[in-house]
Amino acid sequence: LQEQIRKSDTLNVVGELAAGIAHEIRNPMTALKGFIQLLQGSVKEDFSNYFNVITSEIKRIETIITEFLVLAKPQAMRYFRQNVIGIMHETLELLGAQALFQNIQFLTEFDEEEFLIYCEGNQLKQVFINIIKNALEVMPDGGRIYIKAKRENQDYIRISIEDEGPGLPEEKLKKLGEPFYTTKERGTGLGLMVSYKIIEEHNGLVEVESEEGKGTTFHILLPFGFGG
Ligand code: ADP
Ligand code: MG
Repeated sequence: LQEQIRKSDTLNVVGELAAGIAHEIRNPMTALKGFIQLLQGSVKEDFSNYFNVITSEIKRIETIITEFLVLAKPQAMRYFRQNVIGIMHETLELLGAQALFQNIQFLTEFDEEEFLIYCEGNQLKQVFINIIKNALEVMPDGGRIYIKAKRENQDYIRISIEDEGPGLPEEKLKKLGEPFYTTKERGTGLGLMVSYKIIEEHNGLVEVESEEGKGTTFHILLPFGFGG
């Protein structure tokens, strides 16, 4: 069961719009947060439940904004040749605590310890984080996540992230990467859209393989170099 993803045209428009709006929303959010904190300190009656809801909803808005901002072009986009395995190690370190907490083991299989590719390191790291986080989130009872990297051919590297989650039926597989598609109560449905967009900008490709009851594997194919 395989689905190749190419949803580029809509993504470009969405991306540019999103970036603009996200920047505009950030500033008022900061003000809101500050004043709510002030209020919380000076209100006498016990409104702590309300404050908890407000704070958690503000956090949610911030998450959505942050995920959208990954699509923003400007800032410090720095493409250069760097070791994608190093980026993956950093990612696994970042998610290590959550994995440990959930009794999940990361098993890595890197054919080489150095694969130099021309890329934007922070954005690639964001892709790895998004996909591995999803894997963690579909394995509440623990298990293993396999992370592999190997040379596909002369031009491409294949990075695979394989989980032991519930897997996906075909109709859901098709929905992956659609903006706001989520099955989680507190999900944003933006992580994969952003990830696909980033991989596309690297002239790469994402393939998803899934089998119900067994798990899901995300394959990321990235060219070693691409003019730029
Ligand atoms: P979110 O994580 O906020 O829901 P994503 O874009 O990261 O948004 O993922 C969208 C949806 O894709 C998830 O809600 C889930 O239903 C599905 N999904 C993503 N990764 C996996 C996976 N490894 N196994 C099963 N389902 C997945
Ligand atoms: Mg996610």
